[in-house]
Amino acid sequence: MKWKQQLFGMKAYQPGKPIEEVKREFGLDEVVKLASNENPYGFSPKVKAFLETDSTNHAIYPDGYAQELRTAVAKHLGVKETELLFGNGSDDLIAILTRALLYPGVNTVMADPSFSQYSHNAEIEGAEVRKVPTKDGKHDLQAMLAAIDENTSIVWVCNPNNPTGTIVSDDELQNFLKQVPSDVLVVLDEAYFEYINAPEFKDTLHYVKEYPNVIIMRTFSKAYGLASFRVGYAYAQEDVIAKLDPVRGPFNNTVLSQKIAVVALEDQQFIQECRTKNENGKKQFVEFCNKHGLNYYPSQTNFILFEVKADSDVVFQEMMKRGFIIRSGNALGTPGYIRVTFGTEEQNSKFLTLLEEVLTEQGVFA
Ligand SMILES: *Cc1c(COP(=O)(O)O)cnc(C)c1O
Repeated sequence: MKWKQQLFGMKAYQPGKPIEEVKREFGLDEVVKLASNENPYGFSPKVKAFLETDSTNHAIYPDGYAQELRTAVAKHLGVKETELLFGNGSDDLIAILTRALLYPGVNTVMADPSFSQYSHNAEIEGAEVRKVPTKDGKHDLQAMLAAIDENTSIVWVCNPNNPTGTIVSDDELQNFLKQVPSDVLVVLDEAYFEYINAPEFKDTLHYVKEYPNVIIMRTFSKAYGLASFRVGYAYAQEDVIAKLDPVRGPFNNTVLSQKIAVVALEDQQFIQECRTKNENGKKQFVEFCNKHGLNYYPSQTNFILFEVKADSDVVFQEMMKRGFIIRSGNALGTPGYIRVTFGTEEQNSKFLTLLEEVLTEQGVFA
């Protein structure tokens, strides 16, 4: 068959191992997944109550325009309904953006390491991928500017960055946006927006008003705890959204997920509570790293990438045997490090006790 040449050698996204599989493989009763930055507190109790009484007719196609959700998000952000695009998770938005703007002969600029789906989708479209090494885990925006040329179509700024958890400050971003050519789309992927607490990050929504080439992506998968429902959205000027909309699948959010997202958005108290608990989790990990002299990247997210001074794959395996699924740095382009999502206080304590045991076994604390 006449496959796209670039598909040869490509692999499907490698997600963290499913909990059930790990239970079976290691004969464990309880397994905790701290691998995909999901919310350990689940989702708003209001969503739970809604689900219990919901009587959605699933035989009917959803509203492709997601009117009710659109109205709710527009109100929440203080933007126009026509300035929003909804995706089946931000992953879908990434695919829509690349399908609309990338093709053989153009290139796309991103940080390295950063979220793998940018390059994955760009490769499928046959575009050239330009990866610019991060500096101390942070986007090197000067080097990214230097990588842009007349054939650059999209620049990705993952802010905060996955897997390092670091942010680009408002000053840096402002300076960057001033210099990016106006025909290059700048994607600000803010999947972890709700967890940011650094004063040097300022709300970015106003950049969309100032720059027609800026688009911001956020998601209900992380702090809102609705990863399984697959809802993400993008905010950009009306003309940009109008260009992207035909690329979107006609019914890319289910009826139920649209309803659920509206309910979740109304419960900002839940988000506040999760933010506070997340900060406490972060403290537990930072204290562990400081105590043991392990390097870590300052996180503005619900996960942390830190050094283990051992083979990351071995640590990954040993922690899995003990009932914790994490991400090995080897899979993320950061060998010698692991990425761990903050769990509940109890999960974090247990995890860190077991990690201490594993690292001792590995001779790290000799
Ligand atoms: C998790 C994540 C996404 C994808 O989120 P979905 O909305 O679930 O598709 C996008 N970008 C980054 C940086 C992420 O970490």
